[in-house]
Amino acid sequence: MGLKVYIDGKLYEKEDAKISVFDHGLLYGDGVFEGIRVYNGKVFRLREHLDRLFDSARYIMLSIPLNHEELEAAVHQTIQANGLRDAYIRLVITRGVGTLGLDPNKCSRPSVIIITDSITLYPEELYRNGLDVVTVVTMRSHPSVLNPRVKSLNYLNNILAKIDAQNAGVMEAIMLNPNGFVAECTGDNIFIVGRDTLLTPPLNAGILEGVTRGVVIELAREMHIPFSEADLTQYDLYIADECFLTGTAAEIIPVVKIDGRPIGTGKPGDITHALLSRFRELTRGQS
Ligand code: PMP
Repeated sequence: MGLKVYIDGKLYEKEDAKISVFDHGLLYGDGVFEGIRVYNGKVFRLREHLDRLFDSARYIMLSIPLNHEELEAAVHQTIQANGLRDAYIRLVITRGVGTLGLDPNKCSRPSVIIITDSITLYPEELYRNGLDVVTVVTMRSHPSVLNPRVKSLNYLNNILAKIDAQNAGVMEAIMLNPNGFVAECTGDNIFIVGRDTLLTPPLNAGILEGVTRGVVIELAREMHIPFSEADLTQYDLYIADECFLTGTAAEIIPVVKIDGRPIGTGKPGDITHALLSRFRELTRGQS
C-alpha cells in the first residue's frame, strides 16, 4: 500500500498526487504551510498549528476553503488512510490556479494539500553530542519585507541562510535580524542559558512563533527554570552556558559550538538535557 496524499478532499496515491503548474504556490511561493508531528497516533498541538496556519493565511488574505474543524478532520483522515502512528505531516495551502501574472484575485480557489512522511530527525548522536552552527550573512527578512511570523511558502530567505551554513561546513545557521540581534535558525527557534536563566528572542525580533518554542516555555515554567524573552546579540551567544534549538522536526537539539567557539563546556548542558527529557516524556508519553 503506497503513500496517500490528500488534495482538496480526495486521497491520491503518491505518484498521482499532482497540482497545476499554474498554481501560484509554485509560481510565486504564494501560500502558507505547517509541519506537524504525530506521536503514538495522536497529533501533537494540532490546535496551535491550525491557529498559526489560519493567522498566516489571514495575513496574506488567503481564505482557506475549510474551517478549523474540517481541516482537523482532513488531517485525521489522511493519517488514518496512511495507517500512521508516528509521522510528520505537511499541511500546505496554496493560492490556487491562476494566470502567469501576480494577481492573487485571478486564482480561482486555494488548494489544500496534506502530505505525510516518516520522521527525519537529526541523527541521535547529535542529540547526545550537540550541533555545530554558525551565524550567517543572510539576515532574517525585515517584518515589513516579509514578516517571519507568517509561515509562508516563500522560504528562500531561510534556504539562502541554509546555503551559507553548508558553505561554512555546518548543518544549521543562526540568522540575525536587520538590527543585528539574534532572530532564529532556518527552521528552528533558538534558546540559550546564561546565569541559570533560559533566554530566547522575543517575537518582535522578527521570528516565527514556534509551537515547540511555546512548549519549551511552558515546560520551563513547570520545571521552575527562570525564563525570559530578551534581545540577544552574538556576544550573548558566545558567553552562554548552554544553547539549543527547537522545532517540530528537530524537537530540542543541543548546540555546542557557534562560529567555532565552544558553548559552555562544549557539551550539551544540564538544563538542555532536562528540557529534552521532559519534552520526550510529554510527546512519547501520550496515550
Ligand atoms: N522558525 C522557522 C523559520 C521555522 O520554519 C520553524 C519550523 N516550522 C520553526 C522556527 C519552529 O517552529 P515549530 O516549533 O512550530 O515547528
